[in-house]
Amino acid sequence: MNDEFAFIRSLLKGRSAWSDRIEVDIGDDAAVVVPAPERSLVMTCDTMVETVHFLRQTMSCRDIGWKLLTSNLSDIAAMGGTPTFALLSIAVPFSWQTEEIQEIYRGLYQCADENRVTLVGGDTVSTPGPLTLSLTLLGEVSPGNALRRSSAKPGDVVFVTGTVGDSAAGLYLLLHHPQLKEDFPTLVKAHTRPAAQVSIGKWLAESGFNPACDDISDGIAGEAWEIAEASGVKLVIEQEKLPLTAACKEVAKMAEMDPYEWAWFGGEDYQLIGTIRPDGWQQLRQAALEENILITAIGRVEAGEPCVEKETAGKRMSLQQKGYNHFADR
Ligand code: ADP
Ligand code: MG
Repeated sequence: MNDEFAFIRSLLKGRSAWSDRIEVDIGDDAAVVVPAPERSLVMTCDTMVETVHFLRQTMSCRDIGWKLLTSNLSDIAAMGGTPTFALLSIAVPFSWQTEEIQEIYRGLYQCADENRVTLVGGDTVSTPGPLTLSLTLLGEVSPGNALRRSSAKPGDVVFVTGTVGDSAAGLYLLLHHPQLKEDFPTLVKAHTRPAAQVSIGKWLAESGFNPACDDISDGIAGEAWEIAEASGVKLVIEQEKLPLTAACKEVAKMAEMDPYEWAWFGGEDYQLIGTIRPDGWQQLRQAALEENILITAIGRVEAGEPCVEKETAGKRMSLQQKGYNHFADR
């Protein structure tokens, strides 16, 4: 046994296998799973880089592992898929202790267990650069039912799940007023322990209404633009209808910031934004109610040049497409 093997083995403590379709589990050269009959595969990956996506100052190791999986779950949810298997590639600098990496895995396993996801493999390297975690997540969906950004049609209702802006408000608190974090636990949790809307995504995919859907990773403005451009339609969103929490508004007031800016451009809410026919909206609202999930109609789809308009106090103006863009300064 060499050190690397012992290190990898130590990371696998606490891992659960949630599927009976695993033919060769973690520990061989590659994992082998039996595909589910009559299901299409959904595949995604997301990377987190220290200082770019998280700071040690604001995120505990467990939070990092949790959030890494959530960002991937959210992409699977936005396609209407059921998440299944994950692979995690890690590039570890010498400044990170083994115990800290183990803690990241513990956070990841917590989130994996809540979502019945099984880690079936990964890769481990050292790096002279920052800690880099790249997770690949598989999922499945009925053939032809995956949710697309391109399905929005004039007359559709625009909806959003949950509340928006809380993650940005939580980050603001952690960075600027960490002493107040006990006073706003829901905001801190929205930033450090977000949950993906997997069950609503699945409902949408199986609903038969062919809704458009996207997940809110970069801010509701950017995601609404993605739907508008992919579908060739105009989205009109009423700012006053955006579901903001009282806590988010309170922190914004204290910070002398506009809470709607956090909602439009903050990102990392991991909620779903979508569009659906009015009769589908009625059914969606009922289904969400039964699952105790907040869902809000925030606007409508119109024919026209692809764009997003924000309506506030009866006035309409076009909404900028900005959001977090890693290549903005190149
Ligand atoms: P190989 O040299 O054949 O690529 P490794 O020694 O890298 O094999 O990996 C051995 C086993 O451990 C494989 O099943 C691999 O998927 C798994 N593994 C390696 N690194 C990680 C990691 N960071 N997280 C989870 N599984 C890992
Ligand atoms: Mg390897």
